[in-house]
Amino acid sequence: MKVGILGGGQLGRMLALAGVPLGFSFRFLDPAEDAPVDGLGERTVAEFSDLEACAKLAAECDVVTFEFENVPAGTVEHLAQSKAVFPGATALRAAQDRVAEKRLFEALGIPVPPFAAVDTLEELAAAIAKVGVPAVVKTRREGYDGRGQRVVREAEAVGRVWGELGGAAPSAALLVESFVPFDRELSILAVRGRNGDIAFYPLVENEHSDGILRVSRAPAERVDGRLQERAESYARGILERLDYVGVVALELFQVGDRLLANEMAPRVHNSGHWTIEGAETSQFENHLRAIAGLPLGSTEARGFSTMVNLIGTAPELSALLAVPGAHVHLYGKEARAGRKLGHVTVVDASRQGCEGRARQVLGVVEAEPSGPLDPKGEGLDSRDPSR
Ligand code: AMP
Repeated sequence: MKVGILGGGQLGRMLALAGVPLGFSFRFLDPAEDAPVDGLGERTVAEFSDLEACAKLAAECDVVTFEFENVPAGTVEHLAQSKAVFPGATALRAAQDRVAEKRLFEALGIPVPPFAAVDTLEELAAAIAKVGVPAVVKTRREGYDGRGQRVVREAEAVGRVWGELGGAAPSAALLVESFVPFDRELSILAVRGRNGDIAFYPLVENEHSDGILRVSRAPAERVDGRLQERAESYARGILERLDYVGVVALELFQVGDRLLANEMAPRVHNSGHWTIEGAETSQFENHLRAIAGLPLGSTEARGFSTMVNLIGTAPELSALLAVPGAHVHLYGKEARAGRKLGHVTVVDASRQGCEGRARQVLGVVEAEPSGPLDPKGEGLDSRDPSR
């Protein structure tokens, strides 16, 4: 099976690493000079909007997928005329626009915070007056890891936030939503095969700071069957409505016993990296199985896992490997503030044992000066959440 992947970041790298044992081979397309997938298959250096280059890649493959959610939906649509491309353009389109995404959730009966789409400064002021403060203002497109979003704590800040997110333009596509005083952040990963079979991973608890995922713990603590079932029913609704094939991630806020949807990712996801060592079948292998039309693998957890992201700088490899049971993944990227350079997963039969190991990993990571985080996003890689 030859798989074409649009995008050459670490998600593509981990997809390929999962596919090689199955006998799959990979072709990639990415505009970057160097990419984490280099060495794992042929790569075309081209823009995602270069239809000719994308079509050439597709012609050489049995199936095409993407690991970068800002690939133009038009490219996916074009390729889908002659090749199986999963997930499809409809799912990609919905996930690329925060307003379309929220409307989809609403239509499926998935709770979301009150929100409004705004295009002008006047509409922004009116929307904030309506949803109240604190409110979160986000660009409709291409925001990620806290980029392209601001919290408005007082109505007077509207002009400043407009200047920062709307720029000097007379109109800007923004989403305003109320700030959710969540108890914690959870995510659910689900996978749907070409034959419609669906499997769910257990809910994961995620810790973010500065809008970037730092730590994921799986399965999340204090999850009763009802909460898991509710998350599964939300993910199922999305998969079925979009006739989706592959892995999807749904990010949720927990408030009491309610779950509010924040956003979805139409691809493998950082909060699922723990599945490489911590689940019967990793999210990467299951994505490949799904798009290849093969049977899905068990999504059951093997004990307890904690995944720690390496952001901005990575500690010495020897220091990380000195932690018993540490599974280190380095993406081969140049260190840069706010950039995801790798992750470390620990797995243990008990939650306590897992936490003990995770504390050791965090000790090594926190001893490393991580370089200034850049809340405005300057200096961050400008393309992708996971880059
Ligand atoms: P996003 O880019 O939408 O995933 O947001 C990144 C992070 O910002 C989330 O994981 C939350 O920690 C925080 N965040 C986003 N939207 C809200 C909200 N409406 N209320 C509170 N926190 C939020």
